[in-house]
Amino acid sequence: MREFTTEEIRQSYELLKAKTEKSGYLLNPDEEFTLGIVESLLTNNERYGYPLCPCRLSSGSREADLDIICPCDYRDLDLAEYGRCYCALYVSKDATPEQLNGSIPERRPKNPAQESKAVTMPMWRCPVCGYLCARQNPPEVCPICGASGDRFERFNSVIKLE
Ligand code: SF4
Repeated sequence: MREFTTEEIRQSYELLKAKTEKSGYLLNPDEEFTLGIVESLLTNNERYGYPLCPCRLSSGSREADLDIICPCDYRDLDLAEYGRCYCALYVSKDATPEQLNGSIPERRPKNPAQESKAVTMPMWRCPVCGYLCARQNPPEVCPICGASGDRFERFNSVIKLE
């Protein structure tokens, strides 16, 4: 397994930070900690062929790990409820030091493959650019135009496919 240089890790960190901020999310401001997570993501990408969540174990199959490829399916729910993702790579702008430094419960089901994927999620619409997303709560910031999440509205239209 190859080791990544400090420069490579820093470069990936800067790219991820720019991409994250552009889409309205935030990385953990503890740079040393975040660089460590970025290094683990690079290592996992090298080992498995995809950036598996550094805080979880791989099943050995990409298909079974789809929900824990970073950013995982559980990030936004954890950001809304706990102010951070499971690994604390992503944080909410309102996260308290206690939230960032403590631990949070694992949201991933024990047998994700056996859990029904058919869940009903509310739809949210950005009133500025029309961006639509299906999730429990609107995002903090629209990833397309940057409008704040409190401007999102519930979208109740039915889309008919023929
Ligand atoms: S918990 Fe955080 S670091 Fe881990 S996959 Fe989810 S978003 Fe990425």
